[in-house]
Amino acid sequence: MPQNDLPVIGFVGLGNMGMPMATRLVGAGYAVLGFDVAEPVRAAFASAGGSSVDTLGAVVAGVDVLILMLPDSKVVNAVLGDAGLQEGLRAGTIVIDMSSSEPIKTRALAADLDGRGIVLIDAPVSGGVKGAVNGALTIMVGGPAATVAEAIPVLEQLGRPVHAGPVGSGHAIKALNNLLSATHLLATSEAMLAGKRFGLDPEVMLSIFNSSSGKSGSTENKWPNFILPGGYNSGFGLRLMLKDMRTATDLAEQLDVPDELGRAAVDLWARAAADLEPTADHTEIAKWLAQREVGL
Ligand code: NAD
Repeated sequence: MPQNDLPVIGFVGLGNMGMPMATRLVGAGYAVLGFDVAEPVRAAFASAGGSSVDTLGAVVAGVDVLILMLPDSKVVNAVLGDAGLQEGLRAGTIVIDMSSSEPIKTRALAADLDGRGIVLIDAPVSGGVKGAVNGALTIMVGGPAATVAEAIPVLEQLGRPVHAGPVGSGHAIKALNNLLSATHLLATSEAMLAGKRFGLDPEVMLSIFNSSSGKSGSTENKWPNFILPGGYNSGFGLRLMLKDMRTATDLAEQLDVPDELGRAAVDLWARAAADLEPTADHTEIAKWLAQREVGL
């Protein structure tokens, strides 16, 4: 373990995103204790130079910063509610929830932890597995300015942090971003099907969209890199995307703003999730749509 003045980091959730993020922190000279419920990824983290531990109690022992990269708010709440973790978590520790969690639950959790001298900030990310590997994530940070400032040097190892507002702000923006991204992807996939049926070349369509007003992350990245080549391997699960979309439409409902288009998109993505394998990549929405079209 490195001997330096850098904060010691505990990292929970070594999945598609967490593993490359935690490994980057190790590469930057931080001492990182890593925990995941899956034993094979704990072993992989140890092989990558991290310090794997077997319990949540051990992942907070002596740490200054605890980073969570877990599926959702439910898992985040369960992990932070774990008796072993609570026993080891010292007052003054900064907890950074980098998962895409639910903003209203995040605010409640922050208030609860605050009573115990622990500040929770939210710092969800965009940029996918590639961004995690390259340290090029966009990081949407919510929390008190002083704590965010303390966390910035750690976050800068992972990408570009932007302070979005008080705690929960990052999680709100992340969910709204993914509702937009998923809606674009579905709309692009419908447009691509219509174009193909009309006899257009998909590559020509994408290149024209990308120099026209229909362009988006779906036309510039997802379609050319993961859908047209047939790999469907972006590393972001379809069910995780659906979870984020629902977080956004739930938020809209609680705030009493119109969300008809968002709910229509959620409905279609939910049908895809029911038809596809639980491990399906989110880019498989395009394949699902094409198969439905074939069946018409
Ligand atoms: P993942 O499913 O690959 O990883 C989640 C990890 O959490 C798994 O290794 C799992 O074993 C672990 N885990 C689950 N329950 C646990 C528990 N109780 N204790 C300890 N570990 C536990 O997911 P991911 O793709 O890495 O995504 C993580 C978060 O980041 C999600 O909120 C997701 O929405 C978000 N996100 C993902 C991407 C992407 O491209 N994959 C991009 C941006 C944001």
